[in-house]
Amino acid sequence: MSGLEERVVIVTGGARGQGREETEHLAAAGATVVVADVIEPEGDLPGAATYRHLDVTSPTDWADLADELKNTYGSVFGLINNAGIVGSRGRAGRLEDISLDDWNRLLEVNTTGPLLGIQSMSRLMTDGGSIVNISSIAGAGAHLAAGYGVSKWALRGLSRIASMELGPRRIRVNSILPGYIHTPMQNQTPQHFIDAHLSLIPLGRVGTPGDVAPVATFLISDAAAWITGVDIPVDGGVLG
Ligand code: NAD
Repeated sequence: MSGLEERVVIVTGGARGQGREETEHLAAAGATVVVADVIEPEGDLPGAATYRHLDVTSPTDWADLADELKNTYGSVFGLINNAGIVGSRGRAGRLEDISLDDWNRLLEVNTTGPLLGIQSMSRLMTDGGSIVNISSIAGAGAHLAAGYGVSKWALRGLSRIASMELGPRRIRVNSILPGYIHTPMQNQTPQHFIDAHLSLIPLGRVGTPGDVAPVATFLISDAAAWITGVDIPVDGGVLG
């Protein structure tokens, strides 16, 4: 028994990459998972998971999902704010060059999206809950990533403040700071950046979604019952 049986967990951006692996891992632990994404999942989801179209930047989509979940399950226990984007210039972008459109979009998806998720899902966490925000080592200033790093730094701040506000309702809020993880998102990353970053990883390899998913499941579960408001790097040792 993992303690996640009969608990409903929402995973944004769960159609592919890290979110997909988080979905598989949570479902294997017994959770009922709702994958909320703008794209449909590749291949079959595990039996205990369902897909729901949702744009994390849309308050209407979040309100519709909340109504649906309330009617179907009555309450929700977990939320993984995993959906994210790197921006049109990928990790090569610099603050000096970033366009206002890119800046606004990065903050909208990576920071405002999780805020909307916390607002709408925490209302359904009527018997405690756990929220995990997928930030990044870029959100700790680990490398140049222009607006992406700022949006992920703000997400850490959102986590910390939410953990303080929601703690009295037994809702925990934590962040994971992944390092370089091999997913479709990295298709935009220049090879010279990957080579340079690899030399900074003490464990000597890039990460996989399988490195992050067990940590997300742990934070959602009661095994982390007295952990809230923290940032956990999963980065092969980059932040040390
Ligand atoms: P990915 O691009 O493979 O997956 C991102 C998912 O988010 C996709 O399924 C996409 O459709 C979804 N998404 C994007 N915009 C959305 C929106 N507006 N509404 C709903 N869903 C949306 O990337 P990934 O590597 O799996 O990234 C997962 C999270 O991890 C992101 O927040 C990312 O910033 C973060 N992260 C990634 C890395 C890495 O190296 N890959 C490192 C640190 C942090």
